[in-house]
Amino acid sequence: MIEVEQSQDYVRIFDTTLRDGEQAPGCTMGAQEKVRMAAVIADLGVSVIEAGFAAARAGEPEAIRAVVAAVGRESNSPVILSLARTRRDDIDMALAAVKDAAHPGIHLFIATSELHLREKLVIPFEEALSQMVEAVEYAKQFVGHIEVSAEDATRTSPDRLVEFYKALIRAGATVCNVPDTTGYATVDDYRALFRNLLQQARVCACNKRRPCHHVTWSAHVHDDLGLAVAKSLAAVQGGARQVECTLLGIGERCGNTALEEVVMALDTRQDRFGIATHVHTTGLWRACQELSQTIGFPIPMNKPVVGANAFAHEAGIHQDGVLANRATYEIMSPARIGRPIDELVLGKHSGRKGINDRLRALGVDLDGVDMNLVLERFKALAEAKRGSHGIDDAELLALLVGPSDCERFVLRSAFGSTALNSAHRSPTAHVFLVVNGQEHDLERDGDGIIDAAFAAVQDITHLDPQLLDFQLRTIGRATDAMGQAVVVLKLDGTVVRGVGVHTDVTMAALEAYVSGLNKLERLREFRATNGQVTEPTP
Ligand code: MN
Repeated sequence: MIEVEQSQDYVRIFDTTLRDGEQAPGCTMGAQEKVRMAAVIADLGVSVIEAGFAAARAGEPEAIRAVVAAVGRESNSPVILSLARTRRDDIDMALAAVKDAAHPGIHLFIATSELHLREKLVIPFEEALSQMVEAVEYAKQFVGHIEVSAEDATRTSPDRLVEFYKALIRAGATVCNVPDTTGYATVDDYRALFRNLLQQARVCACNKRRPCHHVTWSAHVHDDLGLAVAKSLAAVQGGARQVECTLLGIGERCGNTALEEVVMALDTRQDRFGIATHVHTTGLWRACQELSQTIGFPIPMNKPVVGANAFAHEAGIHQDGVLANRATYEIMSPARIGRPIDELVLGKHSGRKGINDRLRALGVDLDGVDMNLVLERFKALAEAKRGSHGIDDAELLALLVGPSDCERFVLRSAFGSTALNSAHRSPTAHVFLVVNGQEHDLERDGDGIIDAAFAAVQDITHLDPQLLDFQLRTIGRATDAMGQAVVVLKLDGTVVRGVGVHTDVTMAALEAYVSGLNKLERLREFRATNGQVTEPTP
């Protein structure tokens, strides 16, 4: 008789925003960004945080240690993991990075599909498996929480997967993750895969005849076919009790399962799934806004759960229904995800207390926030927006991420002039920039003011990155709302995203450009010390 292996009513939410998420082009996070997001993610009540891949690049172990310190050592803190290959030096680095966590863990992986073994690792399956067994046996001397992944599992033969996980459970693995690394599986196949693995690979390390109570099965899905959330839910139906996901679904290529979507699906359709998470759903809106602002990743208007239009009703007949009862066209309430409905709008007469109260009400932990700096930015913004509707919640949150004075490049000011339809004169920009504490200024011309301003910055910094993308949007509702600019820059093979927020779009664009350059410089410093390993991951 086979008993139920895992708790039927609880699924662990495993957040990999700081590892798989930040591997997406332009989503790279340094220690500063990771620490800020780790605090937000831990506040959500997730069960596991994958803080990084310690051996992936210089600076990463320090960033993971900073995440561990930021999350703290309360007994209910999440497990904190680092990803690692089977090499001993990888494992040592990963373990050293998480050792001070209340609940440390490691995530070991190796590819198992025929294609990956032949083309990438150039080793037979047996060799891959024995490397993993050895790695698990080595790691378990130091840490109790050991997750294993068969990279590209969904293109690996089912028999091999059974053999793989069976051997690793015997060796001491406590979490078996079955990654759909390439997003290839169908929804039904992925559900069936879990059912099969739970049946076939359930052999317990301690006693072969007894079912295994200490192994958790885990889903990790990429969204290449837009099926990530559906497949993660199917996996849960198939017996998975851990779902790996990222805020806003950021991640390699088309991204991972979106945390806010999978959590709200389980929450809204509790009747169907009957499975809870420990996530505080009321923190979801704020967490997604913070990620968007921290890495400059715009939230599409129609994004499920957190998009601007998620609770907007345009058609008259829908509006009538919503006015009568919101449930006519809303399956969840904005309050359930912590989204402000009647936003309080602050103005230039709002004082420190009003701002503090509002930030707290939005769930911001003010401990790590320099309120003097925020207040200064608030006043400058209120002044720039005089006579208007004031500063709304999204704008207020954006003020938390401003340019910092300790960066290598600090934008002081800029002036531009343009003569529309003039054949005689090109637009010009005069930029004042502080480089390592020293003020520089330069005037340049260009195709437009923004083009001229970027050219002036290039001349001052002697950095000439490729501009892969440039977007401008407004934050807030009034016509004098703040402009948010996002640039994607590439230099020597490194891609970064810069964000700038200002009432003047040229200044927003310049701030974005300069913040991108600061990121490039930070990454260059990391690399100058240690070089970089770039490896494909599950
Ligand atoms: Mn992945």
